[in-house]
Formats: sequence, structure tokens, C-alpha cells
Amino acid sequence: DDTGVPGRVRVAVRLRPRNAEERVADSDFPDCVELQPEVKRLKLRKNNWDSDTYEFDELLTEFASQKRVYEVVAKPVVESVLDGYNGTVMAYGQTGTGKTYTLGQLGEEDTAARGIMVRAMEDILADVSLETNSVSMSYLQLYMETIQDLLNPTNDNISIVEDPKREAHRFAANTKLNAESSRSHAILMVHVKKSVRGRDSVLSSENGDNSPMVKSLKPPIVRKGKLVIVDLAGSERIDKSGSEGHTLEEAKSINLSLSALGKCINALAENSAHVPVRDSKLTRLLRDSFGGTARTSLVITIGPSPRHRGETASTIMFGQRAM
Ligand code: ADP
Ligand code: MG
Repeated sequence: DDTGVPGRVRVAVRLRPRNAEERVADSDFPDCVELQPEVKRLKLRKNNWDSDTYEFDELLTEFASQKRVYEVVAKPVVESVLDGYNGTVMAYGQTGTGKTYTLGQLGEEDTAARGIMVRAMEDILADVSLETNSVSMSYLQLYMETIQDLLNPTNDNISIVEDPKREAHRFAANTKLNAESSRSHAILMVHVKKSVRGRDSVLSSENGDNSPMVKSLKPPIVRKGKLVIVDLAGSERIDKSGSEGHTLEEAKSINLSLSALGKCINALAENSAHVPVRDSKLTRLLRDSFGGTARTSLVITIGPSPRHRGETASTIMFGQRAM
């Protein structure tokens, strides 16, 4: 498993179950995809007899739990952030296929339903709570090349003084979040600063009050890592007439940023020396995610309905080009 290894983008596919409407309306038709997680293959149906086969790093079926998805897609990235690297987790796919479900919402109360964002914050806070560290985060919405702070519209950044009793879902629960839009990108950025003691540290409780004390002969090393979690705008082809409720300007903006992102990811996949990060605000915001020692994990979300076969195919191709 090289999810935590820099250079290449790791690509996982997550298939959501059929929804109630698809179970009824499309009951006579088979799913347009078939996942074979043991061999890490996905079959995309062409017709009744034939299908195309694609390989991915991970295949997450409709039965994959939120916990498993976190462990496969994000945990190695979070661990590398705690080691002082930049790490990125992105969800790409058509609206309604489960990007927001997969990444989750800050403030999710149901433990089993929690998505990647809350689980990542929990792992980060559990790791840094024993040291004198700092974790700060910002939650941005990028809409039509304009950035808005989702945690506090008047603040650029919320700084969180480390408190082990505080959980990720609590410090965001009473903020007004409006990340649920298929026309904008929602970006969570978490900065982690850790002081790591030298190897010759000794644990002792000789100060008499039973509180362990760390003694170190070496000065602490400061490790700075940044985790970025991106819930991308819906990747569906938007009707230029705006018939799906999008304006032409929105459509252009989303197409521009997603295609710029695709180019950067492809440049990484091809080991190209030039990653064109300047082409859009999205890629400029994500510039630390591309190249160097950064770790990037992409989860592409798809639905099973044969009606959306075309969009599903184009999502699969986006994922294939990233590998
Ligand atoms: P997107 O963010 O890609 O537009 P959502 O995450 O909002 O899609 O998902 C659309 C609907 O499908 C939501 O009602 C969500 O709860 C449901 N859903 C998505 N993925 C799953 C899944 N893996 N299991 C169960 N329900 C899911
Ligand atoms: Mg969404």
C-alpha cells in the first residue's frame, strides 16, 4: 500500500447504493457498473453483452462503511500530515453520487455516519493532544472564483487552541455551515504544528505529583503539516442553457476549475516537471497539494443507475487519467 507515499495520486472509486427512486424506476435494468474489489477492477457496462474494465487503487462498494472508506482513502494521508507533510483528499463526481456523504459535514452527530472530515479531525486531535501543539483550520467555499469563509464570514481563519476534551464535531457544530452546494467547491484546510522531542527523551514522574514529565536533551523539532479536504463542485456536464438551474457563468466557472484541476492531476500522474497550478483559483489554492512530498488521495463517486451511464463513464475517465 503506497497511499502515504508521495508522487502519485491514489484513486479510489466509491459506488453509492441505488436510491429509492432508482430501485423502483430502473428495477428492470442492471447497474451500469460492477465492482470487483478483490481484483481492484471496475466493469462499466457497454451493452447487454459487453463491458469495459478499469483498474483502480481501491474499489469501495455500496456496502463499504464510512469507517472503512476513511481508513482506505484518508487515514494514510492524515498520518503523513501528522509527520509534517502536506496531504490532500478530494472527492470528484456527479452531483448526487455521494461526495458530501463521503467527506461528511462538520457537525455530524451520528458516529457511524461521520465522514472523512470529522474522522480526520478526531485522529489529528487524538495525536496532538499530549504535546504542546497547535491545530488551526479554515473551511472555505469557492464559488465563481470567489472565496467565502464558511466558519465565520468575517474571519479568514479560525485558530483552535489545542484542547484534548474538545472534539472536531463540537467546535464546528454551532457555526452556520452552508457547504452543501453542487456549484461550489468546499475546502477544509487544517494546519497542524507539532513539536517532536529528540530521540533521547525520557519519561519520568519524579516531580512527585504523578504527572509524567518529558525530559529531553535535544531541542524539539517542529513539524508542520497541512491537510486539505476538498468537496468538489458537481462534475456533470452542465447544459449551457442553464436548464438545470445553473447560470452560464456558473457552468463556465465550474468547467474551468475542474478542467484545471484535471490538468494538474494529470501532470502529477505523468511525472511532469510543470504542474499548471495558475490556471484557476481552485488549483492556486491547492498548489501545495501537487508535487514535492505531498500525498494526494482522490475518491471518485459514482451511482449505479443506468440512466447516468454517460456521466459515470466520464467520472471513471477522470479517475483513470489521474493514475
Ligand atoms: P453529492 O455531494 O455528490 O452531490 P451527496 O453526498 O449529497 O452527493 O449524496 C446524495 C444522496 O445520496 C444523499 O441523500 C446521501 O445521503 C446519499 N448517499 C450518498 N452516498 C451514499 C452511500 N454510500 N450510502 C448511503 N447513502 C448515500
Ligand atoms: Mg455535495
